[in-house]
Amino acid sequence: MSTSSPRKRLATVWLAGCSGCHMSFLDLDEWLLELTEQADIVYSPVGSDQKLYPKNVDIALVEGGVANEDNLELLLQVRANSQILVSFGDCAITANVPGMRNMLQGADPVLRRGYLDLADSSAQRPHAPGLIPELLDRVLPVHELVAVEMFLPGCPPSATQIRSALEALLQDQRPPLQANREIRFG
Ligand code: SF4
Repeated sequence: MSTSSPRKRLATVWLAGCSGCHMSFLDLDEWLLELTEQADIVYSPVGSDQKLYPKNVDIALVEGGVANEDNLELLLQVRANSQILVSFGDCAITANVPGMRNMLQGADPVLRRGYLDLADSSAQRPHAPGLIPELLDRVLPVHELVAVEMFLPGCPPSATQIRSALEALLQDQRPPLQANREIRFG
């Protein structure tokens, strides 16, 4: 493997997703060791509990749709501080599973249904200003809010797809996505 390129700064970000895309990232198994020879993983939910998104990130894999104000704030930080933002998995690309609540037409009906209509007892809406992020009215895919350099579809993308994408990006190339194998949802 070439060592000519300078070490990259890699981030993985978890918005409104099930973390399955990150589980697939962990399925890279021993290749993760090779990855750490070429890149510093400077922010990731699987690597640390770092709260602040760092500056000067080369590649950011963003899992999940944008469902609440915390997701939105983090996404804007990611965009401002990352050179290449990869929309990572179907939830980031289409809103997918978290976007199913969009059928209820707004945050208020979602909260009413979840905390009042379906409550067995003590029906009440959660209320903790500053602790519970406000839901956005719709769960949005990442590219509807910020520019995206690359889409990596799949629910989740396979470890093979992730590796193929990262190997190219680490060499300052764009991955050779192939129809029916790496460009499909689900
Ligand atoms: Fe989970 Fe699939 Fe969404 Fe990834 S794309 S966060 S695996 S539901």
